[in-house]
Amino acid sequence: MNNKNKTLRIIPRSEHTLSRSNISPNALKVLNRLLQAGYSSNLVGGCVRDLLIGHQPKDFDIATDAHPEEIRALFKNSRLIGRRFRIVHVTFGREIIEVVTFRGAGTGNGQDRELRGGMLVRDNVYGTMEEDVWRRDFTVNALYYNIADQSVIDFMDGMQDLRNGVLRLIGNPEKRYREDPARMLRVIRFSAKLGFSIDAATAEPLANLGRLLHEIAPARLFEEVMKLFLSGHAERVFELLEHYQLFEQLFPYSRFPADSLARRFFVKAMRNTDERIAQGKPVTPAFLIAVSLWKPVKQRAEDRIRQGQKETIAYREAASEILRDQAAIIRQPRRFSAVAREIWMLQLRFPRRRGKRALRLLQHPRFRAAYDFLMLRVQSGETSLQEIGEWWTRIQNLDENQQEKMAISASRRSSGKSSRSGRRNKKGRQKPLNENPCPE
Ligand code: ATP
Ligand code: MG
Repeated sequence: MNNKNKTLRIIPRSEHTLSRSNISPNALKVLNRLLQAGYSSNLVGGCVRDLLIGHQPKDFDIATDAHPEEIRALFKNSRLIGRRFRIVHVTFGREIIEVVTFRGAGTGNGQDRELRGGMLVRDNVYGTMEEDVWRRDFTVNALYYNIADQSVIDFMDGMQDLRNGVLRLIGNPEKRYREDPARMLRVIRFSAKLGFSIDAATAEPLANLGRLLHEIAPARLFEEVMKLFLSGHAERVFELLEHYQLFEQLFPYSRFPADSLARRFFVKAMRNTDERIAQGKPVTPAFLIAVSLWKPVKQRAEDRIRQGQKETIAYREAASEILRDQAAIIRQPRRFSAVAREIWMLQLRFPRRRGKRALRLLQHPRFRAAYDFLMLRVQSGETSLQEIGEWWTRIQNLDENQQEKMAISASRRSSGKSSRSGRRNKKGRQKPLNENPCPE
């Protein structure tokens, strides 16, 4: 559906539920200063949407007719950021209020707005609120809260979509996805997070346009993908990405067939992430990278082992290859991929429990993350790891003396009968630790 024939609705303060008392005091300061200086001053986007449905906004965005330099002049604590899309950040300690000048419909002097192959690579043409609304993504993200009279301004029937829980792109959906393919991920994130349905015309192009995700700069795609998986609704996000055939575009090396061990592992990890976020516990992108690329790393390492390579080297090389190939699509900063690699490498050390080795592993800075990863593998059905998982669960809850005893008794056991972990073949080469076939 197109939104051309929409009528402007101004909903007075008495007829909506957005209360000033729920707005961050810093955002109110910025809104009031802009207003006093004679500019149009409005909250816009996700914060208006969230406040209207009783959620706590993640951040506060302000839209105004003041130009970036004018905004800069009003706030000492502000700076201009972005070239593709110039905006002003006003900072108050750790809180950043984003102030954006209304985008216009014109083309400017030819340099201010640039479309490259249908993709909007720069948009710095300024205009009015009526024009600005067309540049926003979804109708529910295009509501303005005007601080002057506390009314909500609705050009696109966003209030109705908000009431019905519908995500609808403004304008022609295919064109809007082509302009900025990240909108395909935004629709998934909002649908999962808000529990909203996706309007049929907005959903329809998704499956065909998935490959456009590769047009997004890999560094930006990393940010977008992390927002998806750290939204607190990662399990639902995964279902939706798969449903619209977008997951395979993002992670072409990670195929998780129905009913496979690999799939159970990934879904469990997503559920676990959601639970941690709900409990206010930290979640690191490194863990998400480790989880999403484990299957291809393991598979490739096992191929190398079959060709006679030593296990540690096989895993190290496989990890490098997969991380490199995946980074061409989603560029994970090195500090995260390094930790993902450590989590994988530590998986190889868990079965080796003899004496000092085990005690050293307990002290490893990544022990906890690697242990959580191991337990996910156990819980998703890698039965050969059951006993190993239980052993590590027990030992970490003991005091140092008891830990030493437990590690020594593991030594005795393994020096008596040849243990799985320390077994060597005739050439002195270590056997693969996990003789399970790759989860498939
Ligand atoms: P969140 O809850 O994640 O903050 P949000 O809707 O506020 O959601 P932001 O990324 O903070 O998202 O952007 C603020 C607003 O800017 C959006 O609501 C939307 O109106 C507009 N916007 C952001 N990104 C885009 C985009 N890629 N295309 C069009 N409009 C966008
Ligand atoms: Mg926001």
